[in-house]
Amino acid sequence: MLDSGSWLPEIEKEIKAVQNLCRTTGDTPKNMALLKLIKADSEKVIIFVKYTATLDHLADFLGRNDVSFVLFHGGLPNEKKDAAIQAFKDNIQVLVTTVDSMNRRFQRDTASLDAYYQALEKEMRQNLNRSGLSQDLIREREEKIAMIPAELAAKKKDLLNKYGIRIDFKPAAALYLTSACVTVFARLISGRTNTDFSLTYNPVTKDMDPVACQSCGTGTYSIGLSPNLHINCPDCLGLPATEH
Ligand SMILES: [Zn+2]
Repeated sequence: MLDSGSWLPEIEKEIKAVQNLCRTTGDTPKNMALLKLIKADSEKVIIFVKYTATLDHLADFLGRNDVSFVLFHGGLPNEKKDAAIQAFKDNIQVLVTTVDSMNRRFQRDTASLDAYYQALEKEMRQNLNRSGLSQDLIREREEKIAMIPAELAAKKKDLLNKYGIRIDFKPAAALYLTSACVTVFARLISGRTNTDFSLTYNPVTKDMDPVACQSCGTGTYSIGLSPNLHINCPDCLGLPATEH
């Protein structure tokens, strides 16, 4: 008879193995490159993603690879957002966030600060108009009102410190692409002389590349011929630039 205590873990192990297999096939080269970057040293990493689905996907991926991380997105309640930022500043290595959520929250907090101090100033000014205030009291209150902009500026600076994160960029990878392109060969003829030049269609910009001026090397779309039949930019020809 099978002892349930012995075969169940075996099956579980098998199921887990299959699950892991399914997952690891989803570990794209991009994910693996990211993991390599994170594990390269213990420096803090912020990963900006565009969609919350990517956020979930990364959370799953990072969790499986023992990376300490926090998520920050618009769907979190406020306390959790604060906690996420604090944890990232304290001891968590990776923060995964949607591009907009941090910025939106910072903008919103700034706007409510503005509104609060505007209302405060308005109220204080209205109180000034109340009758029966001594000159000393009025002066004292006016001084307080005058201090509002500085106080607001200090609070905004605090906010910036709260959300601000110093980022050091390090180049991590370069992509070298070769692609087929179309080259147009042209011959310019002037009287009995002529000169050849070529135009290249750039598939990345979906436009023709500018032609290099044969005198100064600047790329230009407005070409002209010098008397010795060199392709020149308007500057070198002494002409005003024209649209291409
Ligand atoms: Zn030129």
